[in-house]
Amino acid sequence: MRDINFLTENNGKPIWHPMAHPAEMRAQPPKIIMKGEGVSVTDIDGRTVIDAVGGLWNVNLGYSCDPIKQAIAAQLEALPYYSGFRGTSTGPSIELAYELTEWFGPEGMARVFFTSGGSDSVETALRLARQYWKIRGQADRTKFLALKKGYHGTHFGGASVNGNANFRRNYEPLMPGVFHIPAPWVYRNPFDESDPARLAKLCAKALEDEIAFQGADTIAAFIMEPVLGAGGVIVPHESFMGLVREICHRHGILLIADEVVTGFGRAGAWSGSRLWGVKPDMMTMAKAITSGYFPLGATLIGEAVADVFESDKTSFGAIGHGYTYSGHPVGCAAGLAALAETRRLRLDENAARRGAELATALERLKTRHDIVGDVRGRGLMAALELVSDHASKKPADKKTMSAVADAAYEAGVMIRVSGNNIILSPPLMLTARDVEAIAAGLDAGLSVA
Ligand code: PMP
Repeated sequence: MRDINFLTENNGKPIWHPMAHPAEMRAQPPKIIMKGEGVSVTDIDGRTVIDAVGGLWNVNLGYSCDPIKQAIAAQLEALPYYSGFRGTSTGPSIELAYELTEWFGPEGMARVFFTSGGSDSVETALRLARQYWKIRGQADRTKFLALKKGYHGTHFGGASVNGNANFRRNYEPLMPGVFHIPAPWVYRNPFDESDPARLAKLCAKALEDEIAFQGADTIAAFIMEPVLGAGGVIVPHESFMGLVREICHRHGILLIADEVVTGFGRAGAWSGSRLWGVKPDMMTMAKAITSGYFPLGATLIGEAVADVFESDKTSFGAIGHGYTYSGHPVGCAAGLAALAETRRLRLDENAARRGAELATALERLKTRHDIVGDVRGRGLMAALELVSDHASKKPADKKTMSAVADAAYEAGVMIRVSGNNIILSPPLMLTARDVEAIAAGLDAGLSVA
């Protein structure tokens, strides 16, 4: 067996990591994670830390969920793979699709198209949106609208609707016909508006204006995360998604809720759409669908959209899109077990309860550490935005961010840095004591800034 440290000693070769510069590997070698138990992970040097990143917003049930492990083992034994392409299906995928339409029935979801991850789910939703209009005889409806700061994965479609320059600029030209409006981000917005409700109205007005400018009959869909995750946990005012829903409805524009992070309880409700009381036309899911135990995603389709495909009398209804691992039986078996556990443990309620405790702890850290410019969160998704100066809101530099993350790790807490944000998304079965431990680790981390 190879010495695993060989990787870091040799400048990271042969792995290139997502979202990392291949030339920075020597200066910033990855933490090599070997084991996980409960809410904690252990690295190659034997150090155990609380995983306040929850894998990557996904390990909602922690690392020791026996029902998921057993379901995976049993499915591997019975049937490790069969395709869900036209003509065949598998038991777990059929069962999970039923569960998902029931689980997200209150949001109006009626059909499931399985994928192998979040980017695939977004790509599927964008394609189905265009096809929907083609079937309806409005083939000019091809454009997409999205929020600045939104994150929708890394395929060309998703990257095109992404609202963050870092994920776009090296890959242009992206898909044409995509337009962005300002996110309802209170801390930084082009309107200099600090009242969340008024800001929601201003952003909704920007959406109206963009629709008028483009022409509603050229727009296929608007895509948004109910709570923006990777862009720095931007929590819109509770009125915002409802305003968007009303505007889209009035102009016949489909609303796609990207629930890859917010689905399955993370924001303190079973979905972000449910949190804001909105029924989208489609929802994209991944990550916590298996609690991260197996790669799987799903695009959920609302009744009205499904009807158009299912009663199609044109030649445009056949879906020319899909993935080899769409509805992978092992992934779906993992998904069924994860859903059952999530429901049994009422993780949505725990996320809301622990999230409130975490918010209080983070506000306390803000008063203690000058470098914290803003604290945001909902349920168990939270961010601390670090600035070198409160008045100008100048973002903290990369070196400071790494130093904070390293010190927090030394103090026993894994956190994630994205730009000048510390992002927290711990497993949802967190205890009150875990919240205290995360706050203590952050306190130690921020002390070195
Ligand atoms: N949408 C959102 C909202 C996400 O946060 C992510 C991943 N962080 C994706 C899509 C893409 O998912 P994946 O990385 O599984 O392709």
